[in-house]
Amino acid sequence: MSRFGQIARELGRYIPPAAVRPLGRPAAVLFHGVERATIDPRLQQNHHELDDFVAIARNLKENFDVLPLSAMDDVLKDPDRHSRAVFLMSDDGYANTLTVAADVLDDFKLPWTLFLSTHHIDTGERAPIFLARLFVYHAPAGRYAIPHLPVLDLNGDRDVTADRVVWQLRALDMEKAQQAVDNMVARLDPKKLVGLLEEFDSERFLTWDQVRKLKSRGVEIGAHAHRHWPMNAAQSAATLKIQAELPKQRIEAEIGPCRAFAYPFGNKDDIFREAWQAVRDAGYEKAFSTMSGTLDMVANRFLFPRYGIEPQAPHLTALISLLRAGNPRVSRWQQQLAG
Ligand SMILES: [Zn+2]
Repeated sequence: MSRFGQIARELGRYIPPAAVRPLGRPAAVLFHGVERATIDPRLQQNHHELDDFVAIARNLKENFDVLPLSAMDDVLKDPDRHSRAVFLMSDDGYANTLTVAADVLDDFKLPWTLFLSTHHIDTGERAPIFLARLFVYHAPAGRYAIPHLPVLDLNGDRDVTADRVVWQLRALDMEKAQQAVDNMVARLDPKKLVGLLEEFDSERFLTWDQVRKLKSRGVEIGAHAHRHWPMNAAQSAATLKIQAELPKQRIEAEIGPCRAFAYPFGNKDDIFREAWQAVRDAGYEKAFSTMSGTLDMVANRFLFPRYGIEPQAPHLTALISLLRAGNPRVSRWQQQLAG
């Protein structure tokens, strides 16, 4: 979590929503998936529990004007008039966005946009960071030589190891990172792996037929790269081009027009100059990071800020109203990536 996120969360706890309401600006907020119950939060980090998600949806409905993405350009022409506008988004493309989240959002009549990592919709392959964490927590104790990584010692504290491995993978170029994860998966006992994937069904991706169902219910479909890896300085120009172009092609072949992009991970060091340029050149109209701020930061429409909703968010109303406090940091970041 960013320092801004921590401060805003602390403030949100003490400030009554009505007091910060006038500070609001149009904002984008995101969730990933929603589950009826969590078995192991170390591995199911991306999912809200259903009751918490219902509370979030109710909060958004009661306190904000949640609008479809198609309204964003008009909102940004006059952000002061639309200070309560919120654009709700979901990243990755988990099956539970159809089987659980969509019903909640329909009940509250909240429009939303779903950003898909299309390789995972094409193949059903689970997200690489989930697979790496699955290996760290469920492989037998021992020392493992994994390609492109330092020797992986699973005799110690696995929480520490899991976090370290994730950062090591995110610093590699995509091909090497993928080889490392493929190697981890290959070294899990196949029967055990099948059992684990069933147990953690929350990580299952949508199929294209399921995406079509969401589309027919009014969900806007955007791209979240092809494979779920960061578009950072470790990636080659060729990789960034594929990560930007291929998901658009796949979505347009299967679903229809794909106008918006959201960067995997999407934080400060997950996106670099060539990444947003590749996204621009691929023909998207706009793209979203996960930097905290408000949408009237229009210096670069391929680096819009977006706020990730915490698993439980009782202070969400105050938090969204305070997001503009992150704008100076977003602005500095956009300037660093200008070109
Ligand atoms: Zn993602």
